[in-house]
Amino acid sequence: VSATPPSQTPAPHLVILGTGWGSMSLLSRLAVAPTSCRVTVISPRPHFFYTPLLAGTSTGTVRTASISEPIRRHLAPFLPPAQGQPRFVQANSTDVDFATQEVSAIGPDGTPIQVSYDHLVVAVGADVNTFNIPGIHEHAVFMKELEDGMKLQRKLHDQLEKASAMLAAGASKEEVAKLLHFVVVGGGPTGVELTAELGDFLRDDVEKAFPAVSGLSKVTLVEAGPKILATFDPHISEYAKGRLEAHGASVQTGTMVRRATESSLLVAKKGEPDASIDYGVLVWAGGVKARGFTEKMARKIGGVQTPANRPIRGLAVGPDFAVTGVSNVYAIGDCALAKGCSPTAQAAFQQGKWLGRALRDHGFSPAAAHKNGDPFVFANQGSLAYIGASEGVAELKNVLWDNHPEWGGGENGGGDAVVEGKGAFAIWRSLYFSKLLSGRNKWMVGMDWLNVWAGGGREVSTP
Ligand code: FAD
Ligand code: NAD
Repeated sequence: VSATPPSQTPAPHLVILGTGWGSMSLLSRLAVAPTSCRVTVISPRPHFFYTPLLAGTSTGTVRTASISEPIRRHLAPFLPPAQGQPRFVQANSTDVDFATQEVSAIGPDGTPIQVSYDHLVVAVGADVNTFNIPGIHEHAVFMKELEDGMKLQRKLHDQLEKASAMLAAGASKEEVAKLLHFVVVGGGPTGVELTAELGDFLRDDVEKAFPAVSGLSKVTLVEAGPKILATFDPHISEYAKGRLEAHGASVQTGTMVRRATESSLLVAKKGEPDASIDYGVLVWAGGVKARGFTEKMARKIGGVQTPANRPIRGLAVGPDFAVTGVSNVYAIGDCALAKGCSPTAQAAFQQGKWLGRALRDHGFSPAAAHKNGDPFVFANQGSLAYIGASEGVAELKNVLWDNHPEWGGGENGGGDAVVEGKGAFAIWRSLYFSKLLSGRNKWMVGMDWLNVWAGGGREVSTP
């Protein structure tokens, strides 16, 4: 690929903030015509990682490296911002001057960085929401970034060693059981899938490697609402709860965490006095909120971006993902309030794909793509979740049975289907495998799964 644009006018300089789902799919569409723009990606993370398999990294079902993909490999085809300048800048964007079209960022060593743009795509994702509950930031592990998976894995291994040493030194079974009580807060898909993975780890691996203490270990899932997986079909919520419990977890719904200390949670249950739950390891999976950067941008733009009496959940965008109130700025993924989309990888991926194609094919005017009869339409493919012991749940949208009303399908599209158990697990695995972004990731995840399936076992110590 030539480093010089084909025409005399320099190709527009596109700056992308973030290396997540939205950015990766945007880049994949632009890569079809890599000389159409000069690209700079700014992100604290020099890699993309496959969030749907994150929970499995904490228990060693898959390795961290297997689900991450260096961003630089995907930037090689593009023109650099200017001769010799980097296509990727490792930094946290902190501000945008919409008048001069300049992004300010801070590098890992605190170096201030300025990058000007012709077009800006904001795809910085979302942040963990702790609802300011006291003690959560200090005492809980999150399940959001690759580092969180690594941190939890180390914590699990350390805790198992500590518990074994304590039991050998004569500690009571109650004391040891407290250390091996793994509590996950949040019965959304993140919390449920982590509970499932922890159950697999305790059953398949801890039992063999730590036989003296394995019987004392337990996983509890705490959810404030009346059911887990509340956004799924009601039957799935019930089924998942039953199966998690059958696999050995305790599922406490209607239980709101109010505070965390170093070793216990204060919880409130409707109509009951507050109670406490002792834990050895605490994981917070209570949901997401807008990042500080996103909030700052929204406040700076004002108007519709700052609705009265409501928290800022993301940047308001038009149907072409243009950020309302400023020019040449687009937002996609979890940081954008796109109509009909929830904060999922599925939505971020489809948005990035549409915007990349629109920028590429319509002279950097996605509004033209929208007007010319190619509007963005979110195709909801449904939701899937792993629930442990090679079982899953799947709520599939518009599936196979088009034109088969007797199976729930309509004339104008497919029907919805609920699949549970081993069948759903097979769908979950095949679908998530097929969506891995690179052949390298596919090979490595395939090998990791094969190893566990063949009895090779997950890691029980952190090297
Ligand atoms: P992200 O993928 O979060 O990427 C944001 C990027 O921005 C990152 O590279 C980050 O480092 C970078 N960034 C952050 N701050 C800045 C800054 N100031 N400046 C520049 N860059 C910045 N969704 C599904 O559809 N199916 C699933 O099975 C599924 N499983 C999930 C499992 C887990 C454990 C989690 C946490 C989420 C899961 N999701 C799933 C949700 C999905 O991962 C998110 O909706 C998706 O990642 C959003 O994509 P995004 O591009 O908006 O943001
Ligand atoms: P979520 O918002 O879906 O679930 C968080 C849960 O935590 C809620 O059920 C909430 O009631 C509970 N909670 C909050 N505060 C609490 C408290 N104080 N005490 C007890 N419970 C409390 O968050 P998530 O599971 O992290 O998912 C975030 C996004 O990522 C969602 O859009 C989700 O669809 C997506 N995701 C999808 C998958 C999948 O499709 N398999 C997997 C993970 C995440």
